[in-house]
Amino acid sequence: MITIIQVVFYKEVTFPLEYILPNGMFLPKKGCRVLVPIKKRKVIGIVWSCKKKNTVRYNKLKSIYKILDNEPLFSKDMWKLLCLASQYYHHPIGSVLFNALPNILRREKSFPVKIFSYWKITDSGMIFESNRLKRYPQQKRALTILQSKIAISSDEVKKLSINIYSLKSLKKKKLVQLSKSSNNEVFWRNNIEVSEKKPKLNLEQSEIVKKITSDKMLVPWLLVGITGSGKTEVYLRIIENILISGKQTLMLVPEISLTPQTTRRFYERFNVPIEVLHSSLNNREKFFIWERSKNGENAIIIGTRSALFTNFKNLGLIIVDEEHDSSYKQQHGWCYHARNMAIWRAKQENIPIIMGTATPSLESLFNVEIGKYRRIDLTRRPEGYLPSHHIFDLKGRPSTCNLSRSLIHSIKNQVSQNNQVMLFLNRRGYSPVLICHKCGLVSECLRCEHYYTLHKNQKKIECHYCNQSFPIPIQCSKCSSTDLISLGFGTEKLEERIRQIFPNIPVVRIDKDTVKNTYLLKEKLSLINTKEAKILIGTQMLAKGHHFSNVTLVALIDIDGVFFSNDYRASEKFAQLFTQVSGRAGRSLKKGKVILQTHHPNHPVLSSLIKKGYIEFALEILKERKESLLPPYSSHIIIRSRDRNGSNSLNFLTEVRKIILKHMDNTNLYLSNPIPSTIPKKKGFFRWFLLIQHSSKIFLNIMLSKMIKKIQNIPEGKNVRWNIDVDPIEH
Ligand code: ADP
Ligand code: ZN
Ligand code: ZN
Repeated sequence: MITIIQVVFYKEVTFPLEYILPNGMFLPKKGCRVLVPIKKRKVIGIVWSCKKKNTVRYNKLKSIYKILDNEPLFSKDMWKLLCLASQYYHHPIGSVLFNALPNILRREKSFPVKIFSYWKITDSGMIFESNRLKRYPQQKRALTILQSKIAISSDEVKKLSINIYSLKSLKKKKLVQLSKSSNNEVFWRNNIEVSEKKPKLNLEQSEIVKKITSDKMLVPWLLVGITGSGKTEVYLRIIENILISGKQTLMLVPEISLTPQTTRRFYERFNVPIEVLHSSLNNREKFFIWERSKNGENAIIIGTRSALFTNFKNLGLIIVDEEHDSSYKQQHGWCYHARNMAIWRAKQENIPIIMGTATPSLESLFNVEIGKYRRIDLTRRPEGYLPSHHIFDLKGRPSTCNLSRSLIHSIKNQVSQNNQVMLFLNRRGYSPVLICHKCGLVSECLRCEHYYTLHKNQKKIECHYCNQSFPIPIQCSKCSSTDLISLGFGTEKLEERIRQIFPNIPVVRIDKDTVKNTYLLKEKLSLINTKEAKILIGTQMLAKGHHFSNVTLVALIDIDGVFFSNDYRASEKFAQLFTQVSGRAGRSLKKGKVILQTHHPNHPVLSSLIKKGYIEFALEILKERKESLLPPYSSHIIIRSRDRNGSNSLNFLTEVRKIILKHMDNTNLYLSNPIPSTIPKKKGFFRWFLLIQHSSKIFLNIMLSKMIKKIQNIPEGKNVRWNIDVDPIEH
């Protein structure tokens, strides 16, 4: 008898391969990494299963080179969750498992365990981890000194000449090292302090906190609270209870732009180790956070989508903030939905989960309707009022950048009263089109067949599909004319125009071009919070989650795009964006005002939304979905394919279609022809998809499982890149 080990891989092979465990090597556990040969390469895989077999048939198998882990990298619960995800999303288990691990574990190199010390700045509650200071010699020196001390004054910190991001708040305060027992794991649990500076909950809030903390049923909570109604405060109170019981909390947030503000509130409230997990950390940093939460060394993790896969020693609560946000859905490779998987995870681990939002997704409202979630509401703002809405008709009023005379008047009015104004435009750059005035040629990215956007300040043109950029052309590539003009406007031009109209008023712009990193974001946000900037211009980066107490006027400069979309989700998305954007106004004692500019002031979507408010509106479009049997009243699966000439994808999807048709014994199934994607070409790849719809999720899933092998074996599949998207949110 010999031992056969089945190993799964990240990308190299989509199915498990078998290897022999050489004599003398200990039996690896399921979920450990091993080094094995594939052809002539050494590849890292994960042990999927082990079995004893007869030698004769298996002696052609190769042997494992090396076992890389003594203990499995996944908890039992996580392993089950990922197996389920692999089945549900029809994605190879190897890829799923590796996606759930820190990238660094895809390499063989192993990392020594580090000694960490957490430092707290007393009073403000800021906590940082001194091991982060390791990049430069003077930081290394500082680290040695810090590690030998228990407390250090701000003067001493200055002498160390290290730049701790919170030094500003350090004035006259002391840095204190959080005590750590010899057992790394428990050091924060014996030492929990909750800041006294917390508001008294209002009735709604305290009832919700009571309900959730005393709940035993563990049905997911959908916390629907209008913008600024104190959801975060509710989270903080519930987390307080979780911390006291010695457990950890995972909070998912949609975007990194939201975290500086939220995390500050968390730091200020609790003196426990709180870590932020997001995509701009490097691989080592991510790995160390992962390790620490596995060991129970941190108490709270705030993170974006993939933070869902963090291993915790003792997870007690999951929060999904802004549950409706589309960034929870991965759009490439393994197309999982982090909110939905968070629900599975909470169930698997038997812990409570709270999803919070001002604008719940239709899917979640549907889940409330069928009893899968429980809805609780926060209906009013502890501070401030909900804003009033005004629609400005743009028809027949020529204006640069849609800055109508009445809008300019309103801006002037607010600014003169020392209030702040926010102008929202979801289009970055100077102008979306550069055209030759002589022959009409529009500069276009050939890889995407999409117009270049002009970025005047940065002196470049950029394709917003593939992000490739070039210097601004001097001449037309066709007729050589130098008379190139730009059409339309984006945030950059809007800013230019605003500065012309209001030359003495400070303006700040927040979009992907002006905010390239969190440092710049913090800088801009502080300009806003200190009220130095009076007019704020931004894309949706500015629209979400921020709490600017002095903004009294929000204007949506151009919203007409939404009325021409052929995506059935367009009105849901618009209603969410609109509600979130207008929620930025009137967050303090001053009454807020929202101005919407459109050529379609009587559009039914608009009037219904304003009249009824988000929830009523959403329930109404949910009814429409029911009548037309669209999700969530039916289930969608998309098979996507892309290639460089387009015809291969078409051939592949045609073959997939034939296979499905053969299996299709159920008349309730709808199967489309191959359709070009919403972005039909990107980075030189033509993109197509096939849509399968059925009223039953389970039926659709079983059907696809039955034929997935056949689809994988279609010869045309070798010439394309394809994947499966279950419950897609984009086409
Ligand atoms: P949301 O997360 O729903 O947008 P927040 O929790 O950020 O709302 O609360 C909005 C503002 O109201 C914050 O400044 C917060 O400190 C404040 N706040 C929350 N709850 C209360 C309360 N019970 N009393 C007074 N202020 C509160
Ligand atoms: Zn020309
Ligand atoms: Zn492009």
